[in-house]
Amino acid sequence: MLPLEPSDAELRELGTAALDFVTSFVTGLPDRPAHDPTAFDGDVSITDDARPLGELLDTVGAAAAVGVETAGPRYLGYIPAGGLVTSAIAGLLTLTMNRFGTVADMAPGLVAIEESVLRWLCAEFGLPAGSGGVLTSGGSLATLTAVVAARRTPDGTLYVSEHTHVCVAKAASIAGLPSESVRVVPVDDELRMDPLAAARMIAEDRRRGLVPFLIAGTAGTTDTGAVDPLAELADLARRENLWFHVDGAYGGAFQLTERGRARFAGIEQADSITLDPHKGLFLPYGIGALLVRDTATLDRAYHRQAAYYQDLGRREGLPDYAHRGLELTREHRGLAVWLPLRLHGVQSFRDALDEKLDLAWRAYEELLHIPGLDLPWPPQLSTVVFRASAGDEATERLFDEIRARGRYLLTSTRIRGRFFIRLCVLSHRTHAEHVLGAVEEIRSLS
Ligand SMILES: *Cc1c(COP(=O)(O)O)cnc(C)c1O
Repeated sequence: MLPLEPSDAELRELGTAALDFVTSFVTGLPDRPAHDPTAFDGDVSITDDARPLGELLDTVGAAAAVGVETAGPRYLGYIPAGGLVTSAIAGLLTLTMNRFGTVADMAPGLVAIEESVLRWLCAEFGLPAGSGGVLTSGGSLATLTAVVAARRTPDGTLYVSEHTHVCVAKAASIAGLPSESVRVVPVDDELRMDPLAAARMIAEDRRRGLVPFLIAGTAGTTDTGAVDPLAELADLARRENLWFHVDGAYGGAFQLTERGRARFAGIEQADSITLDPHKGLFLPYGIGALLVRDTATLDRAYHRQAAYYQDLGRREGLPDYAHRGLELTREHRGLAVWLPLRLHGVQSFRDALDEKLDLAWRAYEELLHIPGLDLPWPPQLSTVVFRASAGDEATERLFDEIRARGRYLLTSTRIRGRFFIRLCVLSHRTHAEHVLGAVEEIRSLS
């Protein structure tokens, strides 16, 4: 039976076995099916006896073998995941050190690391002095953190488009706002929120006695990667004295590229930005971020005192993240971002993101040449949507056949009532051979 405090030798043995597992998992990724629909029937029951790690790793391997291979290079569905192994290694260090990282006084060194990540992100987005943020478990929690901070009255209204991620409406509902408070602004032909229509709705709502408080623009919608006109929405928000939130959970990381920066012009005027390093920075699941223009807005919403906090001092220049969001006790997240950025260098991330933009464009151009396919919108970021010109039934058939092959995992959506197949490129493991392979498969099935 392995003691709760393993000896040095036992620890090394565990580490070696775990690292062997990791290495063979990563080595095997290029050949694994993108999707294995079989049910999992391994025995995972908890019993009183202890089992050796080797046996348990076999079970874990079998558990990971079924379902969607989100870590693999041919996962082109939803928003593809990364899983940089260097971040997982940071995770091992973090969880071993187990520091209390939401109170600076308890872990000033690790908080400095996390703060350095947040300052770097704020600088990339051109946010001014006084800006800052908090790392969250993901984009949904980041968005909730922003909506609660932005809300001023219990009956305020906020403005989204039909392509805004549902986490905004969810956040509004958790914040206690009725579903009618989420106002859906029409989109233009490129599926971007129409700022003139938004202005009209806001004026009309004010006439009806409603209290507009927030516009949510999106820097890359989940459906198609459409980028709302952020500069115009920022102007509108400023004129109307509204909080301007930008959802960059999918697309935000493209700010690291020249093309992304050009497309997101205006994002530097945001009051808050949702990011998902576990999407666009290729990190393992569990790392989102909220950046705010003025950290005092988070402090007002989340700073609470309690008698049992009285021993805790303040650290000059280091925030207590507990006062910037919903979470108190949580894993330290900074190192999982910081270590990969430092180890690979930021330029590696800029290059990889540039590659994803190129690959999506390449896929779009190749698919355009396949007779019988419709591609109404060129990719604004790294997502391509297409359908069979013959209609929904033919598109669904094509989609089902791609799925059934299990080699490429694509997902679908509905735009203006019609069925579309989406191909989204975002994994650091996805390269030209994978995208062109997917195109070939689509060609052979069309
Ligand atoms: C993924 C996504 C979210 C939600 O983020 P989670 O990390 O899944 O909670 C929000 N907005 C957009 C545009 C997304 O793509």
